[in-house]
Amino acid sequence: MCYGIQGAGRGAPELVKEAHSVKMSARELFVPAVVTTLRTIDPGEIRAVTLVLPDEYEMAGTRYPIRDEMRPGNAFLARPIGARTGKFRRRMYTRSNSAVTSERILETIINHTHEERADSSIWWQTEEVEALQRKGGTIEVRMGLSQDGTQLILYENSARCEDTNLRLEPDGEWQRMRFLGIAFSTGITPFLAHLRYMKALEFGRTREHPGSYYTLVVSVRKPRHLMEHDELLELARKFPENFRYYPVLTREWPADWPYGKGRIIRSRGTTNGEEGVDLGPLLGVAPDLQNYHVRMCGNKTARNQLQRGLQQGGYRPLSFRSEIW
Ligand SMILES: Cc1cc2nc3c(=O)[nH]c(=O)nc-3n(C[C@H](O)[C@H](O)[C@H](O)COP(=O)(O)OP(=O)(O)OC[C@H]3O[C@@H](n4cnc5c(N)ncnc54)[C@H](O)[C@@H]3O)c2cc1C
Repeated sequence: MCYGIQGAGRGAPELVKEAHSVKMSARELFVPAVVTTLRTIDPGEIRAVTLVLPDEYEMAGTRYPIRDEMRPGNAFLARPIGARTGKFRRRMYTRSNSAVTSERILETIINHTHEERADSSIWWQTEEVEALQRKGGTIEVRMGLSQDGTQLILYENSARCEDTNLRLEPDGEWQRMRFLGIAFSTGITPFLAHLRYMKALEFGRTREHPGSYYTLVVSVRKPRHLMEHDELLELARKFPENFRYYPVLTREWPADWPYGKGRIIRSRGTTNGEEGVDLGPLLGVAPDLQNYHVRMCGNKTARNQLQRGLQQGGYRPLSFRSEIW
């Protein structure tokens, strides 16, 4: 049984030893997941990745079934390689699909951050990952041991809903909520998970209740960065009473682009040390912002700007939760 990243071509013997000792200590358990799909959305910039976990895993002669009940909006922990450091890193990736329809199949979308310290985010965009996928290679994904010690459970980052994560509200709650999701680039991942889960449950529609309502605003630079665009258009067509999709292109757009153009949240410049924020374009999509539970995923600058805009305009949504990377 092998434990390391297979076919990655570096550091394998040390990794096997290290991973094995970690498993035995039962503190942090990792299981190899096969990189089955790699879809390049923009070369060198954005890739959609699928990792598939086995349905059981053997440790010290015992076979443990792997359970996947991951909550939509949560992230899993994997061990990719850092292109800059050459070391295995521990990194979180928000799952973009749902455990209810794709058990043990982990989809995510990863971008090159272009940060000074960028490491694993560069590696994911390399030819090395393509070679890994062609060979049926694996990446380790963290597990937990069930309380009775008989099963491995996919580790997820958030055990409860907090203002700083996007774990979906408990079943029975979200069905009665009205959401405004604001996604910046790969920040679409938690919203895809929410929507795919809600779709599987028909948005919680019953004879008595119309179910949840979700407006998703997605902001990307150019058309090729639109992720799962056709699927989202189709979802809006199929569930017009539950879902609205509003993609925004900030730098390039086709002449006949019918949705948002330019930034959805704009700076008015700085006065007395405080940046003025114009939420006009966002309010154009959701004029009754106060009737929404606002959810946001993106970088810190965008989150701060959005919060400042809400504060300056005196807009008080029903709730505000965000996750920043
Ligand atoms: C909950 C959560 C969900 C996320 N979901 C996604 C997702 O769906 N998609 C996505 O693309 N990203 C996601 N991320 C971000 C992702 O986990 C990574 O942080 C991101 O891809 C950047 O990784 P990186 O290794 O390139 O850089 P960083 O995470 O910025 O790491 C750089 C690392 O390099 C090391 N380092 C820095 N300077 C030095 C130095 N001088 N010498 C040696 N080492 C140094 C440090 O250990 C540092 O941690 C998520 C993050 C979180 C927290």
